[in-house]
Amino acid sequence: MNQLLAGKTFVIMGVANKRSIAWGIARILHDAGARLIFTYQGERLKKNVEELVATLERDDSLLLPCDVTKDDEITEAFATIKEKVGVIHGLAHCIAFAKTEELQGEFVNTSREGYHLAQDISAYSLVAVARAAKELMTEGGSIVTLTYLGGERVVPNYNVMGVAKAALDAIVKYLANDLGPRNIRVNSISAGPIRTLAAKGVKDFNSILKTIEEKAPLRRTVTQEEVGKTALYLLSDLSSGVTGEIIHVDSGFNILGSV
Ligand code: NAD
Repeated sequence: MNQLLAGKTFVIMGVANKRSIAWGIARILHDAGARLIFTYQGERLKKNVEELVATLERDDSLLLPCDVTKDDEITEAFATIKEKVGVIHGLAHCIAFAKTEELQGEFVNTSREGYHLAQDISAYSLVAVARAAKELMTEGGSIVTLTYLGGERVVPNYNVMGVAKAALDAIVKYLANDLGPRNIRVNSISAGPIRTLAAKGVKDFNSILKTIEEKAPLRRTVTQEEVGKTALYLLSDLSSGVTGEIIHVDSGFNILGSV
């Protein structure tokens, strides 16, 4: 076990269950000595998160509700963190949502409402959360979000979420520029497909996984832990000169031309 994050505190947003990428990140940060604060979407997920957090060795985690579509919940969550913890050193934003009916068929059929919802939860929320978090990053900090190749290229059925990820990728760069003078870095990890609750919403997700196993340079999919290890790099001093970057953790799939 390394102690890269000893004495540091990180906010993890987006644990739904043990398959969540956020949980993979949490375990790696915990093993590196970090204190963790978890935010979850609502009461429905509270028990899941409590049970997972109870499996960690440390018992000083803080758990807070935070539905990112609600400004007052974001304000309240970060006010509580300020009161109970004070300074934070980083944040992992692992949140996305689109209606299942928008994650199949032709993108041209995307509804106005479905478009706004996907953008609000999956892209704008990073702006709102970064604005609140920066006030607690008085010793500098690092923010990491999760993106996907579908924001750079057309991936069948990813549709409205691909467009939200394209916005998220641009948001990372604008935030990196705004927050850099405060010594706050903002980066994203473009994860390869991993079987999670969110991923299950994408039609034919299994065939995306199969393509990775057959074509990606490493000929396999990636794990939550592998994403977590890159998050550890981005959230620790190891990446002190890196901001506004997208790092692909996808078995190399993104480098391929026509497959
Ligand atoms: P997941 O379902 O475990 O996590 C998604 C999280 O978003 C859940 O915890 C859910 O509660 C949260 N969320 C949704 N709406 C919310 C709201 N209004 N307020 C607060 N939280 C809300 O799935 P995951 O795959 O671990 O997703 C985490 C991130 O990783 C997402 O941004 C996703 O797009 C991204 N990602 C996933 C994959 C993959 O294949 N699984 C690949 C690349 C990127």
